[in-house]
Amino acid sequence: MVSVPPKIDLLPEHLIDQIKAGEVIERPGNLIKEILENAVDAGSTKIELSIKNNGLDLISLKDNGHGMRKDDLPLAFSRHATSKISRFEDLYKLRSFGFRGEALASIAAISKLHCISQTRESKTASEIKIEGGLTLYHGERQTGSGTHGTELQIQDLFFNTPARLKFIQSQQAEKTFIRKIVFAFILSRPEIEFQIKFDDADKDIYPGRETLRERIEDIFPKAKETILHSERFYENNELTLFLIPGSFKAPVKLQNIFINGRYILDKQLHRVLSNALDATFGGDDFHYVAHFHLPPDTIDVNVHPNKTVIKCLEISKMISLLTSTVKELGSKRPVRESQIP
Ligand code: ADP
Ligand code: MG
Repeated sequence: MVSVPPKIDLLPEHLIDQIKAGEVIERPGNLIKEILENAVDAGSTKIELSIKNNGLDLISLKDNGHGMRKDDLPLAFSRHATSKISRFEDLYKLRSFGFRGEALASIAAISKLHCISQTRESKTASEIKIEGGLTLYHGERQTGSGTHGTELQIQDLFFNTPARLKFIQSQQAEKTFIRKIVFAFILSRPEIEFQIKFDDADKDIYPGRETLRERIEDIFPKAKETILHSERFYENNELTLFLIPGSFKAPVKLQNIFINGRYILDKQLHRVLSNALDATFGGDDFHYVAHFHLPPDTIDVNVHPNKTVIKCLEISKMISLLTSTVKELGSKRPVRESQIP
């Protein structure tokens, strides 16, 4: 028996956004990463972040970046709307974290969101309220001039995607993941002041610093004398590596690799680094912060919607840089008394 074929229809926009949101915002930490990226891309020098119940109840972010104009505000929350690229070739000389124009649309599709934004020139702030992808309010209010930046309040994440909510791991796993993300920004942009608040705890303040070393010393004030640090070049590739003995505690284990300022989750590079550390330091435990600076046309960041995977053309050069830098740091490390025969 031949059955009647069902009619094919285009999905409504807000449903597409909800489906796409699954790729970009798998868990609250992904959302926090996206809004921190936007605040950095907006040229902010101060970012305040407050997180309640691991982001499920409230995530609020306030930055002092360039803000958004009233007419642009609804566009920012539309899919594939970006101010960061206009041609495909731009992807290979990116200076911004963002380029896909889908984070805010994804976030708005699965939360209750309120955004207030003001540009430097404006005497009014623009405001938008969106719930589950549907705009409830778009307007402006007088503020007088002098302030600029963007404030985002995101409540009840996943309220309309209960299946996603069920997949959220244990409270502890989420908390650890969020802290890893937040510290990835603290460790990639020392010049920006970060104020971070979890639930009802006091806020942690990391003042803006000129160098990454100073920022690392703010995180590990007692480790100053023991931090190992090297900068090495190999042709056009540069690596800056910091090692901090694991006996010094941070809110979370810091093992971060950045490529051109972007936090990446690359199993191969982490494995190479941890093997090199084992071989050189005989199994001692370290926090590490590794920053690669590579020619933008040798990397491809357009691999996954959450932008934490990067394809690198010169991966073998990066691996030799990592191993040779660890060896060099091994020879710099002061001999401990217990090792003197
Ligand atoms: P992308 O970052 O890939 O462009 P997003 O959905 O994250 O996409 O953001 C869409 C647009 O909204 C950005 O291109 C930017 O113009 C604007 N925007 C987002 N967040 C901010 C912010 N904190 N300050 C100023 N502009 C912002
Ligand atoms: Mg973005």
